[in-house]
Amino acid sequence: AARRAHLKVRGLSAGYGAFPVLRDLAFEARPGLTVILGPNGAGKTTLLRALNGLIPRKGEVLLDGDDLPEKTHEIVRGGVVLVPEGRQLFPQLTVLENLELGGWLVPKSERSARIEQVLADFPKLRERSGQLAGTMSGGEQQMVAVARAMVSSPRLLMLDEPSLGLAPRMVDELLAIARRIADSGTTVLMVEQNVKKALAVADRGYVLERGTLVASGPAKLLARSTVIRETYLGAQ
Ligand code: ATP
Repeated sequence: AARRAHLKVRGLSAGYGAFPVLRDLAFEARPGLTVILGPNGAGKTTLLRALNGLIPRKGEVLLDGDDLPEKTHEIVRGGVVLVPEGRQLFPQLTVLENLELGGWLVPKSERSARIEQVLADFPKLRERSGQLAGTMSGGEQQMVAVARAMVSSPRLLMLDEPSLGLAPRMVDELLAIARRIADSGTTVLMVEQNVKKALAVADRGYVLERGTLVASGPAKLLARSTVIRETYLGAQ
C-alpha cells in the first residue's frame, strides 16, 4: 500500500562536537524522489546521519506532521531507514541472511512475507540468495543493501550515494531502482555526486555547499540552471 510520506525540515543544524557542519537547513522530501547534490565534504552524509539519529541535531524535522524521534531505533520503527555510504553489509553472511537482518523490527509473523516480497521485487537477488554478500560485486552489494532496507517497508528511504564506485551500467540500474521504489509509494531522499544521472531520475533536487543549501527546484529545471551547469556539469 502506498503511503506517500512527506518529510519537512526547518532550521536543521548538526555537526560533530563543537564542529558545526550543517547550518539552518530548510528542505522537504515530498512523495517521490528528492536528491541532494553537492561536492565532497559539503555535509551530505552528515545530513542523512542527523536525520537517522546517528548524530545529534537541532531544528524541526516533521514526518507527515509528526516530530521525527531522536533515537535511531525509534526512527526506524517510525518508518525511516538509511542505506549508508559503503553499504555496511555482513560480508560473511548470505544475501538472504542479510535481508533477514533488515527485518529485525518487523513482527515475526510478517517477516517471511516481507522477505518474499523483496525477493519478488529484486529477482536478481533471489538467484543469489545463498551467495555470501562479501563475494558479490559492488553494484550487487548496493542492491542487497537497498533490498535489506526495503524489508521493513519504510515510509521514507534515505540513500547515501548509491552509485559510489559503480560501473556506469550499475549506476543506471541502482538509480532506476531508486526511481521504482519512489514510484511504488516509498518517499526517497537520496544523496548523490552523480549530478546528471541523479537529476534525470529525481523529481526535485537541492544543492548543498559548505553546509548550506544554495539552490533547489524541480529536477528538470535544476539540471538547466546556471549553478548546476557551470559548477557540476561543466557548461559548454
Ligand atoms: P562525502 O561525499 O565526501 O562523504 P559529504 O558531503 O557527505 O562528503 P560529510 O561526510 O557530511 O560530507 O562531511 C562534512 C564535514 O564534516 C567535513 O568537513 C568532514 O570532515 C566533517 N566530518 C565528517 N565526519 C566527521 C566526524 N566523525 N568527526 C568530525 N568531523 C567530521
